[in-house]
Amino acid sequence: MNIILLGAPGAGKGTLASKIVDEYKLPHISTGDIFRENIKNQTPIGVVAKSYIDKGQLVPDEVTCQIVEERLTREDCKNGYMLDGFPRTNAQAEALDKITNVELVINIDVDFSLLMGRLCGRRVCKDCGESYHITRLNGATTCSRCGGELYQRKDDNPETVQSRLDVYNAQTAPLIEYYTKQGKIFNVNGSTTPEDVFEKVAEKLNALRK
Ligand SMILES: [Zn+2]
Repeated sequence: MNIILLGAPGAGKGTLASKIVDEYKLPHISTGDIFRENIKNQTPIGVVAKSYIDKGQLVPDEVTCQIVEERLTREDCKNGYMLDGFPRTNAQAEALDKITNVELVINIDVDFSLLMGRLCGRRVCKDCGESYHITRLNGATTCSRCGGELYQRKDDNPETVQSRLDVYNAQTAPLIEYYTKQGKIFNVNGSTTPEDVFEKVAEKLNALRK
């Protein structure tokens, strides 16, 4: 199964991704992770990517595509993969179509006003990264998993959240159109519970697996 995950900040992409990984044993491929890995190991492409990042420039599409392509040819992807954070543009989507056959694009659809509340009320564990929402914390200030201190991310404030959502929308709308034309978009309502979202996605994935 070759799938792509799309979802605005706060839409629950991380939660859905980990459920899909557990259930379908697909490698979760995030461009952030593979960039970090290539840079850390000083691979030729990692060195090129780092030269742009060090200058504060965007890594060009062709470099990003090369890094993704290399990752997709590894052994653990032979039964499929789940891409997260890539493609971000139609040019990248076209490049991806040249190297692999994307089967399904899962788009977690959530009303932006709901995302605003989710993100601004989010508290994150300083130690393990687990996130919580103030409405469920009952005043607790530490992580129930590891005891770490909870904090509010700097970018989880109304102004920044609004601009993150605007950027996401501007960037993703053309991608959704691109994959809709290919008949590959699967919209799932992300306003419900994580369990409910996963159930809908699992139905679709099970049908795909047959
Ligand atoms: Zn924790």
